[in-house]
Amino acid sequence: MNIILFGPPGAGKGTQAKYIAKKLNSYQISTGEILREEIKKNTEIGKKIAHDISEGKFVSDEIVNKLIKNLIFDIKIKDRLIFDGYPRSLSQAKNLDKFLNESNQKIDLIFFLNVNKQTILKRIEKRKVLENRSDDDSNTFIKRYDTYMETTKPVLDFYSKNQNFIELDGSLEIDEITRKIDTFINV
Ligand code: AMP
Repeated sequence: MNIILFGPPGAGKGTQAKYIAKKLNSYQISTGEILREEIKKNTEIGKKIAHDISEGKFVSDEIVNKLIKNLIFDIKIKDRLIFDGYPRSLSQAKNLDKFLNESNQKIDLIFFLNVNKQTILKRIEKRKVLENRSDDDSNTFIKRYDTYMETTKPVLDFYSKNQNFIELDGSLEIDEITRKIDTFINV
C-alpha cells in the first residue's frame, strides 16, 4: 500500500506517518528529514537547502524530485511507501505520478490532515522545546504555513477529486486521528 500524508507544517503528518509505516511494515519518506540529512553533509546542495529552509521557503522541485527518485524506484520498498511532506507543489505531484507510473505503482490512500493556524502554532511551540528544530521558530513557522497554503492549494485541488482522498480533522488528539486512519488501513 502506498499512502500520501498531506497537510500544513505541524499538522502531525510525521507522527501519523511513523505509525502507519510501523503498522504496515512500510517505509516513511519524509522529504523534510531527507533535506535535513542533506544539510548535514554540508554539500553545495546542502547549503542551498539550508538557506531556503531557514527563510521559510520551499526547496526547489528539482532538488526534491531528484532526492526521492531512488527511493521510489527501490524495488525493496516497492508498494510500501508512506509519503510525508511530499508532494508539496503541483509540479511535484505530477512528477510523483510519473515516477509511480514508470515503476508500476499507484497511490492507494491520500490523507489530508486539515488543521488551522492556531492549533498548529501551539504544537510548533511544543515541538521546538522537544526536538530543538532550528527552523521552527515562530516567525519562520508563519512563513512556512503561508507558503504551504499558497503552494499546496493546487495540489489539494489535484488530489481532492480522487476517490481515495480522505480529509481528517487534524485538530483532534493524535490518538483520535490514528484511530480514524486505522479504519482505512486495517486490512
Ligand atoms: P517538514 O519537516 O516536512 O516540515 O519540512 C521542513 C522544510 O523542508 C519545509 O518547510 C520546506 O522548506 C522543506 N521541504 C520539505 N519537504 C519539501 C518538499 N516536498 N518540497 C519543497 N520543500 C520541502
